[in-house]
Amino acid sequence: SLTDVAAPVTVAFEAEGGRAQPRSAGLPDSLFAHDGQITKAPVRALTLAALAPRRGEILWDLGAGSGSVSVEWCLAGGRAVAVELRPERAANIRANAARFALPLEVVEGRALDNLPALPAPDAIFVGGGFDEALFAALPPTARLVVNAVTLETEALLAALQARHGGELLRIELARAAPLGRMRGWEAARPVVQWSLVR
Ligand code: SAH
Repeated sequence: SLTDVAAPVTVAFEAEGGRAQPRSAGLPDSLFAHDGQITKAPVRALTLAALAPRRGEILWDLGAGSGSVSVEWCLAGGRAVAVELRPERAANIRANAARFALPLEVVEGRALDNLPALPAPDAIFVGGGFDEALFAALPPTARLVVNAVTLETEALLAALQARHGGELLRIELARAAPLGRMRGWEAARPVVQWSLVR
């Protein structure tokens, strides 16, 4: 359970030459066990900034994928519950929690089915599986951040922001990559992020 896990410790990785991890969010994707479904480092940094973790707070990470957002939340001094539908991804979350030695609880299954059993959250992040039913089931007192990559979810976020307020941020990033013998910008899929403080 969340309560009997030791406080987070900073883990020094051999890959990092024995140095301690940086304290800011946006760690390299390569530090996490993942299958490609991971919130990429720069978007993760913006997501953590929006979630605004404070020491001791509890995060629900719904559609947690690799759990990278939960890991960075816990590195900031919080505790997290990661809910993930797919068993092989839940296994990645457990591996990442162990690797970083963090108080991160993993729940395997659909987010909507599992909310009633979770400890009351201070903040909620939805990285997958967001819809109106899930929104309606969320406790109305927690800070909320939702990331959308599909047009359908983006449209839902636009409608919800009109009704409930909060901030919509469209994140479009490109990275320089080889293009023949030169370099060119390789665009990532845009992410639309809705943040609601309530
Ligand atoms: N933030 C994650 C990436 C999330 S990808 C990271 O950094 O690794 C979205 C995830 O949501 C996928 O792993 C998908 O399996 C999961 N998902 C989709 N619908 C879900 C639902 N209803 N309940 C739980 N997980 C869900």
